[in-house]
Amino acid sequence: MSEKIAVICIGDELLKGAVVNTNLSSIGVRLLALGVVPVSSVEVPDRREDILAALEFSLARADIVITSGGLGPTADDVTKEYIAERCGMRLEEDGAAALNIMKHWKMRHPSEEIPPRVFNQALVPHGAKILQNDCGTAPGLIVRTPETDEYPNRTIIMLPGPPNELCPMMDASVVPFLKKTLKHFTFTREFHVAGLGENIVEERMLPVIARFHSMLSVAYCATAQFVRLFLTTESPEVMESAIQSVQELFAVELLSDDADSLSHEILHLLGERDETLALAESCTGGLAAKLLTDIPGSSAVFAGGVVTYSDASKTSLLGVPADVLRKHGAVSKETARAMVDGLANAIPSDAAIALTGIAGPGGATVGKPVGLVYAGIRYRDKTEVFELRLRRTREQIRERAVAGAFFRLRAMILAAENEA
Ligand code: ATP
Ligand code: MG
Repeated sequence: MSEKIAVICIGDELLKGAVVNTNLSSIGVRLLALGVVPVSSVEVPDRREDILAALEFSLARADIVITSGGLGPTADDVTKEYIAERCGMRLEEDGAAALNIMKHWKMRHPSEEIPPRVFNQALVPHGAKILQNDCGTAPGLIVRTPETDEYPNRTIIMLPGPPNELCPMMDASVVPFLKKTLKHFTFTREFHVAGLGENIVEERMLPVIARFHSMLSVAYCATAQFVRLFLTTESPEVMESAIQSVQELFAVELLSDDADSLSHEILHLLGERDETLALAESCTGGLAAKLLTDIPGSSAVFAGGVVTYSDASKTSLLGVPADVLRKHGAVSKETARAMVDGLANAIPSDAAIALTGIAGPGGATVGKPVGLVYAGIRYRDKTEVFELRLRRTREQIRERAVAGAFFRLRAMILAAENEA
């Protein structure tokens, strides 16, 4: 049986909705890479009885409990006091933690005295293992419940609340600690399947699931760009065979292993070929350009883009004929085609994408519903126009329009390679 892990996120702000609990997902993705999915997660305010109740709940169902938040110097930071109290441990000052606090304080407030309360963060439960905080002052802490406890020999890992402190501490200290501690190692693998709905991915996976039965667990998570497909098993042989099945089932749809987004994949594919990309965006307003330029090094591939939102700009910047716009409308395959053709003059490149559509919520006309998007795509000497019919909110339609265009460009790049 694998060890079980429970998570407790502590902080009034989480329950007030003032702060989104990103720590849970940061912890979750790192545990998943170790093959562990937490058995529970609770969010509680910075209050003694709530923290203690969450602790009882979590210790009853897990071997390891990870907490986030409440390790700081302010009066509302009470996590370690109550956990130490619960485990019958006294607090004592840790010299190294005190030095780290002094170092950080001097860096941030060179001319100010350190207020004594800041040193509260150097108080640690007796016998605790201390996790160095490279990005802040409060150290992380690992304690074990005593032999005599109702839940003996459980491990409690306390992490600071700020995400920019918690994530590096997970990577530098907690993941290596868990790798050493977890006796039952589980293998996980994540794939990104683009261009198919979650239900279709699931349907195609049914024979694989049936073949490995309880030896393999399969999970899905749909994003705007692709479906994340997770395989988990305790058997390396099952994992190897399941990976092979997935690679065969989704030969075309599987993104490269190191691509965590479609924009990344496009940069990777064009970069490998020493080729460039240009964009003409209408309904997406520059979103495609943003997603590409979010990635460092994108300048090697991304030549540039224009946002032609009005009809007049489509004509003046891209040379879309006024009569095409009049006759077929801005949202039409003819306009998408003229936009991508015109882009060849405006920004010469090996690949080009033009997007025009109705992002909503208004703007629908007879025969042209919200979510209708045309993507004109040119790769080398081939141009195609795709009609996308997207649903949901304005934001999702714009995200999916970009993802749809990137996915189709990717298919054209791969097809050109197969033809060659
Ligand atoms: P500090 O030294 O900053 O007080 P701390 O360990 O006491 O650290 P908290 O006071 O609980 O942590 O939280 C500090 C800040 O970290 C919060 O204001 C919040 O912005 C952020 N934070 C806390 N918990 C979470 C969480 N679960 N997800 C995302 N952000 C969080
Ligand atoms: Mg705090």
